[in-house]
Amino acid sequence: MNGKIAVIGGGLSGLTVANLLKNRYEVTVYEKESRPGGLIRCERVNGQLYHLCGGHVFNSKRQDVLDWFWNLFNRDEEFLKVNRNAVVCMSNGKIIPYPIENHAYLFDEEMKKNFIKDLVDLASKPSIEPSNFEEFLLNRFGKTLYKEYFNPYNKKIWKSDLRKIPMDWLDGKLPMPSIEEIIYNNINRIEEKKFVHSTFWYEKFNGSQFIVDRLSQGLNIICDNPVNLIEKSGENWIINNQKFRYIIFCGIIKDLPKMLKGLDISAYENQLNNLDYHGTTSVLCEINKNPYSWMYLPSETFKSHRIICTGNFSESNNADGKMTATIEFTDYISKEEILLNLEKMPLSPLYIKHHYNQYTYPIQDASTRMMIGALKKELSKSGFYLSGRFADWEYYNMDVAIGAAMDLCKTL
Ligand SMILES: Cc1cc2nc3c(=O)[nH]c(=O)nc-3n(C[C@H](O)[C@H](O)[C@H](O)COP(=O)(O)OP(=O)(O)OC[C@H]3O[C@@H](n4cnc5c(N)ncnc54)[C@H](O)[C@@H]3O)c2cc1C
Repeated sequence: MNGKIAVIGGGLSGLTVANLLKNRYEVTVYEKESRPGGLIRCERVNGQLYHLCGGHVFNSKRQDVLDWFWNLFNRDEEFLKVNRNAVVCMSNGKIIPYPIENHAYLFDEEMKKNFIKDLVDLASKPSIEPSNFEEFLLNRFGKTLYKEYFNPYNKKIWKSDLRKIPMDWLDGKLPMPSIEEIIYNNINRIEEKKFVHSTFWYEKFNGSQFIVDRLSQGLNIICDNPVNLIEKSGENWIINNQKFRYIIFCGIIKDLPKMLKGLDISAYENQLNNLDYHGTTSVLCEINKNPYSWMYLPSETFKSHRIICTGNFSESNNADGKMTATIEFTDYISKEEILLNLEKMPLSPLYIKHHYNQYTYPIQDASTRMMIGALKKELSKSGFYLSGRFADWEYYNMDVAIGAAMDLCKTL
């Protein structure tokens, strides 16, 4: 063994780090909640599987991430291949399959004509490099789709001016169809099933809790243990009177200035305090049976932005013949408000339970990456490393969080 390592935060990132290092170091994971898993924890409510927040589906573009993951899980016996059958429920209630731009032939007549005009306009203009999210959406999809779908939908999620969202933050996360592709896909009525990422992997039993349970096996995880103080002492770090050679911090980077003693990071304090983010209220509901995986909701009549039909991902998610889903609202919303909103929503949702997570969507501005990169460099000189959605302040999916943890562990 090469020494002792403390991992702060037993979410997917912390669990991945601990698994990658456990054969080389003596690893202790500190988790503030009563059980590990962070955003991807699930529970059963009257037999129905409830994703408390994230981790609904798994896939990756990184072969090393897939290799690592499928080495720990039996893909064919423990997972199901799920078709992504996502749809947009337009404000008038009309259902348009996703991606919306490939289904213009289903738009109402007026919208169809406006969309064609937009494409002709876009094709006649020289293409310019967009500097923000709004410009990207307008340049790529035109005014009509921006007004009817992209703007209202994204505003519900981000609750901010889309002009303030920089492009590099969205790198690799956005659809980039050319005008030719949009026209081709419409003429040929290409279904989403023919696209590369139209299928995902989903656990046969217990959703992403299955991943948490497997990754937690054999680890030394101390739960109900929020770490509030990490003190530097010579070459080492002290937590709860325990000495560690390295710290891998997978918690919330905003907490660092008040937590760290013996290493001066005050130069970063203001910028860390100013980091912006959103929370999510996830509501478990019984809904009408349907064939969808997700339903995106641009309508301004209610606040929720999407219904995730988790009951369709695995039969074992539903009990008593009921179909269940998770309905998401950005930030905190009271039970009374949830109930009022559900009444106006498609698929007749019936409330079962809700849960609010304070930290779900990190928001970057143009300077965030550089600031966090510089802080990471500084911390790493003292054997203190960051990895995770809210440690790196990156909009990571599970596979990208795993990939970031793998990249870090290779350096240790
Ligand atoms: C709404 C939503 C839907 C998503 N859906 C998907 C999806 O379908 N597919 C996908 O691949 N990804 C999805 N994701 C992303 C996925 O959830 C994340 O990539 C992943 O959970 C990040 O794990 P993490 O460990 O980095 O962070 P977290 O899960 O936030 O873990 C951080 C952990 O640190 C603990 N902690 C914090 N501070 C302290 C402290 N001081 N002391 C001790 N412990 C502490 C927390 O309690 C938590 O357990 C989704 C995310 C959201 C928000």
